[in-house]
Amino acid sequence: MELQDRLDEVRARISTAERQSGRSPGSVQLVAVSKTFDADAIRPAIVAGQRVFGENRVQESQGKWPELKAETPELELHLIGPLQSNKTAEAVALFNVIETVDREKIARAIAEEMERQGRSLRLYVQVNIGHEPQKAGIAPADTVEFVRLCREELGLSIEGLMCIPPAEENPGPYFALLAKLSARCGLDKLSMGMSGDFETAIAFGATSVRVGSAIFGAR
Ligand SMILES: *Cc1c(COP(=O)(O)O)cnc(C)c1O
Repeated sequence: MELQDRLDEVRARISTAERQSGRSPGSVQLVAVSKTFDADAIRPAIVAGQRVFGENRVQESQGKWPELKAETPELELHLIGPLQSNKTAEAVALFNVIETVDREKIARAIAEEMERQGRSLRLYVQVNIGHEPQKAGIAPADTVEFVRLCREELGLSIEGLMCIPPAEENPGPYFALLAKLSARCGLDKLSMGMSGDFETAIAFGATSVRVGSAIFGAR
């Protein structure tokens, strides 16, 4: 199958899931996750009308996105992988959305860097929804207070919450928990769901899904 066909199929599955979950058409944004693929592999998705992309590494992104953004300025780039503070300046310069704000140190670094560069990024707080030691994210129990700190003390505009549920488990309860946490924070955006579970995520209220391999193929 060509990339265009796989992209069409993912879009159709999102539409079906929206309808079946009683969500309004077009209410779920598709973030096409292009990590490990180079500019030439990504270009057909842009030609097919995709405008929102996700990457998990700052350095890898710097090697391909400046060129792609120059060709298509309205592209929207999301950082969906962990951010080290020594990469904050580069990340703030290149990305439109950082989905992985997960600790005070990085939240402060982003706030200072946005001020310095005169840029304003949209931000999500990543929640370690399954309490997994190897995963990034703020603990569920600390999320409400962390969002408050980001907003009130650092003046950051937090748009929503993001999570990656434990692999090999039914993701539904984790998606439900993220939705509950976001309501308690007064947030209405939820970034959850990947190639294997985006329809389930939409049923639990995802407003954006991050889909890689179902569009670009296996990594
Ligand atoms: C790689 C990645 C995805 C996409 O995963 P697929 O299973 O390829 O759809 C989504 N979210 C994050 C944070 C990722 O790192």
